[in-house]
Amino acid sequence: MTPHLSIFVCETFAPEVKAVVEQEGYPDVSVEIFPLHCGSPIMSTMNLLEQMQTSSSHSTHLHYIGSSCFQIQKESPKLPEFVSLTPLSQCFDILIPSQLTSSLIHQRNYLVSSGWLPSFKQQIQGWGFDDTTAKLFFGETSENLLLVNTGLSNETETLLEEASRFIGIPYSTIDLGLSHCRLLIKGIVMEWRFLQERDATARQLKKITRESADYSMAFNQISLLAQLSDEKKIKERIAEMIQLLFAPARAFFIPEGSDSKNPPEELFSNSMGLAKGDCENASFAIQLIENDKNNGRIDVVCVSFPEYLGYYQKLSPILGKIFGLVLSNAGKYETIREHEKLLQISSLELTKLNATKDKFFNIIAHDLRSPFNSLLGFISLFLNDYDDFTDEEKKDFIRRIQGISKNTFRLLENLLDWARAQSGDFQVSPDSISLRQLILDNVDIFAPGASKKNIRLLAGSHQDIDIFADRYSIDAVIRNLINNALKFTNQGGEISFAFQQEGKMAICSVTDTGIGIPPLMAEQLFRIDSQVKRPGTAKESGTGLGLILCKEFVEMNGGEIWVESEEGKGSTFSFSVPLVDGP
Ligand code: ADP
Repeated sequence: MTPHLSIFVCETFAPEVKAVVEQEGYPDVSVEIFPLHCGSPIMSTMNLLEQMQTSSSHSTHLHYIGSSCFQIQKESPKLPEFVSLTPLSQCFDILIPSQLTSSLIHQRNYLVSSGWLPSFKQQIQGWGFDDTTAKLFFGETSENLLLVNTGLSNETETLLEEASRFIGIPYSTIDLGLSHCRLLIKGIVMEWRFLQERDATARQLKKITRESADYSMAFNQISLLAQLSDEKKIKERIAEMIQLLFAPARAFFIPEGSDSKNPPEELFSNSMGLAKGDCENASFAIQLIENDKNNGRIDVVCVSFPEYLGYYQKLSPILGKIFGLVLSNAGKYETIREHEKLLQISSLELTKLNATKDKFFNIIAHDLRSPFNSLLGFISLFLNDYDDFTDEEKKDFIRRIQGISKNTFRLLENLLDWARAQSGDFQVSPDSISLRQLILDNVDIFAPGASKKNIRLLAGSHQDIDIFADRYSIDAVIRNLINNALKFTNQGGEISFAFQQEGKMAICSVTDTGIGIPPLMAEQLFRIDSQVKRPGTAKESGTGLGLILCKEFVEMNGGEIWVESEEGKGSTFSFSVPLVDGP
């Protein structure tokens, strides 16, 4: 509604007030007249309001100027905000300064205006006076009938003369013009306009404050959003922001070119917002933009305060740019992360390959070379001095050559198995195997070596378990574990075997009463990139390859290998393999 001010004034002063409004050219101000009320019972504020409201339905503000004809109560009942008052101590204060009014009345003047004169007879008779009583009354109260002339009417002189005759007192005129009335009306209009401006500014300020609070909240959320790189988390944060900003019932993420492969995704759904039927004018879309390119949209459905829809729509382009950017960045981050992961795997594989290669060359250059050196040395000594040796010495030479050859052969076998496992050529062909039998066969093989070192091999009397594994590789594992146990156990020691079922796996252990393994070394036993090689208790040599091969073989069969050891007391190496009806 356009702001409009209605000024209410008594008909006595209406010509002057109207003239001022007209001369000043106020398009937003009109003058409303109420009938002269002097001598009638005083009207209450309620009556006044009623009268004002019925006569000015087009106005946004009502202003009353008057004095004792209405009982103006500022406080009770409280005036509505659209009503204001200019209470005067005397009616004529509209036309002349209050002090002058008082002084003129004090000099026994009866003041009249040009607006009063045309109906003077009705007014006086309305108070209950006739010709005679009027003369009596005025004769007693006043000495002069004084017209406050503002220069608006030409007929006033005749009317004044007539009135003077009627009430029986002389008359005179005081010419004051419109300046006082103009000042009063200007003041009222200016004050009203100022308050209008102030209210509009306050409303604007409130709106701006609300908007800036929303923006700062949005930017705070956005700064949190920018710290994320995970698409799922970004969508969760976007959903939170949309709930905070728009309080809708639902929101959907609709990817660009959405189809069955890329369907719309519900970001959230709750009991907020309007009922479904009222959603038509309470929903809007945030177009996601990345590099000036459409990147899908977010549908915000059924906001709680549809009256702010216009404002939400104004906010949505900037949100669309930010959401679009972070979502597309998340996709890029995802690719980078995948590449990083692949790189990490490749780098680990490369390290392992490098370590494997180093180990391989080390073994060939050192562990395989030195037994051959010994063999060649023995053989040339044997050949050169063959005739000088006794038969017993010759046998001893051959035994030594046999021992070295056996060890070297074992090393070669391990090396070959390992090389095949590394190249991926080694295929496990699992079969049902009796674990007890496998251990007994190996106990038989190692018995001579054990008795040489005076070590007891205790096969135990466990109930047999059938495992489902590759015979060759599991045999190699048991062989290596017994060989190590013998190598690192002193004369008079013991090596025992145990096996049991645990779920769908069999656990097989080889325990010795040997020198044990320091904890730091135990952590590195099964790693290709570490060096844990030690000579045995009888100076037996090793390669540091056996346990790595064991781990490889056990894992190929679907099991695990581990060690428990205490320095100086002994070690237990255990591994698991699937049972026949295992996984
Ligand atoms: P190798 O025995 O040929 O050196 P392994 O890989 O079989 O290579 O063993 C690596 C190292 O682990 C050994 O050199 C030794 O230090 C330690 N080790 C293995 N088994 C035992 C054991 N039963 N008792 C003590 N130490 C052991």
